[in-house]
Amino acid sequence: MKSLLKGKVAVVTGGTRGIGYAIVKKYLEAGATVVLCGSKESTAKAALEKLKSEMPGAEADAIWPDLTDSKAVAEAFAGIRDRLGSLDILANNAGISQSTPLYDYTAEEIEKILDLNVKAVFICSQAAARIMKEQGGGVIVNTSSVVSLYGQASGCGYPASKFAVNGMTKSLARELAKDRIRVNAVAPGIIRTDMVANLPETMIQPIINRIPLGRMGEGEDIANAFLYLSSDLASYVTGAVLSVDGGVII
Ligand code: NAD
Repeated sequence: MKSLLKGKVAVVTGGTRGIGYAIVKKYLEAGATVVLCGSKESTAKAALEKLKSEMPGAEADAIWPDLTDSKAVAEAFAGIRDRLGSLDILANNAGISQSTPLYDYTAEEIEKILDLNVKAVFICSQAAARIMKEQGGGVIVNTSSVVSLYGQASGCGYPASKFAVNGMTKSLARELAKDRIRVNAVAPGIIRTDMVANLPETMIQPIINRIPLGRMGEGEDIANAFLYLSSDLASYVTGAVLSVDGGVII
């Protein structure tokens, strides 16, 4: 496990907290050099500092390009390749969710969610794939969601964005296989990130009651799936959307 990603350089978008931060730590434990991507300089630097205190000697760095800006992302990813020698793994994890009812939804709101959850996945994948193709291969893993299978009862933009992530995953897997780039996704269920952890017990228990495995997922459950799909253990896996959700049907 410790050397599964030895010598690899990974970029994790949305790596400053929650699931992304767990992926960053998992990749580091597996021997990769990891660049975490945050939305702003202050949060990216703070996450890097926290990481270095939790994992002294970690081979980690931080960047904060605007993920919806092709030029900024291309420059940031090229900078990683130039500084660290390659870009082998891209975890497209940054994402936001909404639960606004249709009758209150605005065009601006749906644009915002599609911009980060879909357009940024496209932009980052394109920039990374150009580098990966040139260096002879690589791996892209996207964060989807259980709502990409079932939709959700309010806030249609979020499941729509994750259906799109699955579509992009399966399409890019087919398009990029010839360039030795594998593309997969992980579809988390209900994961205990900060937002969920702060909910009162009375709200959490009914959620847990609906999960067949009887507990909420942890960031590490998702990070383990990212590690598998990013490593050579999954060398014959591409175009998969791996559910990591305790069996929940929402
Ligand atoms: P989180 O809110 O804890 O983290 C989101 C990350 O995205 C942060 O690192 C943040 O900096 C980054 N981000 C937000 N807006 C950004 C922007 N405009 N530009 C760049 N980065 C931005 O959320 P999380 O729960 O860890 O979610 C991570 C991913 O997992 C998302 O794609 C989310 O849709 C997905 N997901 C989460 C759950 C869950 O239960 N938590 C379930 C299924 C899927």
